[in-house]
Amino acid sequence: MIHFDKLKIPLEGKKIEFTEGRLSIPDNPIIPFIEGDGVGPEIMKVTRKVLDVAINKAYKGKKKIVWLEIYAGEKAEKKYGEFLPQDTLEAIKYFIVGIKGPLTTPIGGGYRSLNVVLRKTLDLYACIRPVRYIPGVPSPVVHPEKMNIVIFRENTEDVYAGIEWPKGSTEAEKLISYLKEEFKVKIREDSGIGIKPISETGSKRLVRKAIKYAIDKGHQSVTLVHKGNIMKFTEGAFKDWGYEVAKEEFGDKTITEEELGRKYEGRLPQGKLLIKDRVADSMFQQVLIRTDEYDVVALTNLNGDYLSDACAAQIGGLGMAPGANVGDYIALFEATHGTAPKYAGQDKVNPSSLILSGVMMLEYLGWQEAGDLIWKSMVKTIKERKVTYDLARLMEGIEPVKCSKFGEAIIERMK
Ligand code: NAP
Repeated sequence: MIHFDKLKIPLEGKKIEFTEGRLSIPDNPIIPFIEGDGVGPEIMKVTRKVLDVAINKAYKGKKKIVWLEIYAGEKAEKKYGEFLPQDTLEAIKYFIVGIKGPLTTPIGGGYRSLNVVLRKTLDLYACIRPVRYIPGVPSPVVHPEKMNIVIFRENTEDVYAGIEWPKGSTEAEKLISYLKEEFKVKIREDSGIGIKPISETGSKRLVRKAIKYAIDKGHQSVTLVHKGNIMKFTEGAFKDWGYEVAKEEFGDKTITEEELGRKYEGRLPQGKLLIKDRVADSMFQQVLIRTDEYDVVALTNLNGDYLSDACAAQIGGLGMAPGANVGDYIALFEATHGTAPKYAGQDKVNPSSLILSGVMMLEYLGWQEAGDLIWKSMVKTIKERKVTYDLARLMEGIEPVKCSKFGEAIIERMK
């Protein structure tokens, strides 16, 4: 039996198990949650309430999440004297599925970012972000309904790996002189140095997950996005390894764009998944002008970060963008946005991003019916123009509702 320093395992719930390559979900799974900092507690409260009501309604009381609060960020500092206690990491590993609010990066705490530490320590290598439009949400584009993509962003490598040194540091100076002496590479003396590792292992497992997901959910294509025309051995290799995975592991189910033209006259045969690639800068244009040609998209870490927010802007902004950090089987669901500190404690921000992350979590548990119930109620609520400040300010003559009231409106519409 596992022992936690300060957490008490609830008696009425059961643990999710992972055996023989499969998750086994009890009717009363214990799900750890981190409230988060800033607006985190407000959106988490609403999210848990919405999820509880939907599950109760969908399964007539036969299923239930047993919540277990775990700690990170400022609340953890108060309880444990540290921002990311071992209990928290152990609890996510042990209970397998969890959900979190946004976390402030503590200044001077020796952390680059708590989120990055969480993702790296638990090896949650895929950041999955579905970007889907809800009718009625104000958008800067003419046809926001064309946006329906799922982003798979690599979560552990790239310039995010945290290997960098400031200008003038011993490490930067050593590297500069090493590169000069050994490889005749000239770098200005007053440079900061960062390293961009992209591995075959990291790239292949990410693309493998994206392809599996696309096949399971019946998607039409997976696009590998990269900047391989310039960074050939990192970004370009990501693309090449992606194609390799598709061919070697899913050869009977995938075809390339070249094969599509040569063998199938441009028409995708039934049961096949199209694997294509796009250069990152062109992809930013593509998601605006040929939006509906993209489906599942796999990217390196930095490109994935940028593209996620750009796509989210088309469907209502950060308040509407859900996400999950997933490893081989451990999954931690979270909103795409941060702590929005200027709105903390005002019961004001849009909780949709975290609620929709909760919907993704329900789907991960196989509780699709409860997830569908929330999605439909959210669509109805927005159609009736009940929205929080972020969407209301882009609509004519709308009085915004509070964060908690938006949650209540969703619950009322779950008939
Ligand atoms: P942010 O918290 O995402 O907020 C930026 C802006 O996005 C807000 O001012 C607001 O725009 C809008 N926004 C964010 N969440 C919203 C919501 N739920 N509803 C409506 N609008 C929302 O980004 P930040 O200010 O750059 O970062 C603040 C802190 O969060 C930093 O400490 C950062 O490190 C951290 N962070 C954490 C995570 C995470 O935990 N995963 C992710 C990103 C950032 P308007 O001002 O236009 O209303």
